[in-house]
Amino acid sequence: MSLLTLSNVTKRFGGLTAVNDLSFTLTAGETVGLLGPNGSGKTTALNMISGYLPVTSGSIALDGTTISTLGPERIAHRGVARTFQLVRALPSLTVGENVLAALAFRKDPLWGSKAEAKIENLLADVGLAGRQQEQASNLTYIDLKRMELARALATEPKLLLLDEWLAGLNPTELRAGIDLITRLRQSGITILLVEHVMDAVRALCTRCIVMNTGSRLADGPTADVLADKSVIRAYLGD
Ligand code: ADP
Repeated sequence: MSLLTLSNVTKRFGGLTAVNDLSFTLTAGETVGLLGPNGSGKTTALNMISGYLPVTSGSIALDGTTISTLGPERIAHRGVARTFQLVRALPSLTVGENVLAALAFRKDPLWGSKAEAKIENLLADVGLAGRQQEQASNLTYIDLKRMELARALATEPKLLLLDEWLAGLNPTELRAGIDLITRLRQSGITILLVEHVMDAVRALCTRCIVMNTGSRLADGPTADVLADKSVIRAYLGD
């Protein structure tokens, strides 16, 4: 059954068409890569799915219900969460407080001891067990990414949107990051990830959608898509 459906979604910024008549569906439980050269419209697509940008035309449905008319908070309540390309931590707060702030976005916000227990569980899930009291500004880059993931998972999303979550990691961190996303996949969550790290795409994604100049160029099993001549051409430029 399809969890997410984009139907003829277009986004224009003045005269520029950033996303052009984009249609695809995600089935519950899939991990799908959203690929394409810089400027092809991937982040704009994630911004529309999560409600941070309104669509110019077309529609987006989650579980068969239109969400493209809703704002980010209501879309979060329905089960969509995302991480941002640039980590948006609140550096003056502790790790625990950063996750607590995200718990406020739940449809059923948690407080007191329930919130404390949930924060501990979330931090353990992302590999930050026992680090609640640390200042976010003291975290290493990978640990900031882990914290950002804990924040996204605080709403117990059905659909997780990852925007270059694995970018900028060294090879050891990348392996740890891939392991972490693999564990998440096994929990049954549906993941759409924008990613340039091809080793990660091969390791994590069963299927890839490729965008080029706002349009869908390819959609299929990862190995087929990555071997597609038009995809290779789009990446290399012609
Ligand atoms: P990608 O994520 O694939 O690199 P983006 O979605 O960021 O691509 O951008 C697609 C196109 O839309 C680019 O040409 C970009 O400059 C433009 N764009 C993105 N956001 C805005 C905005 N807020 N205002 C105007 N143009 C934008």
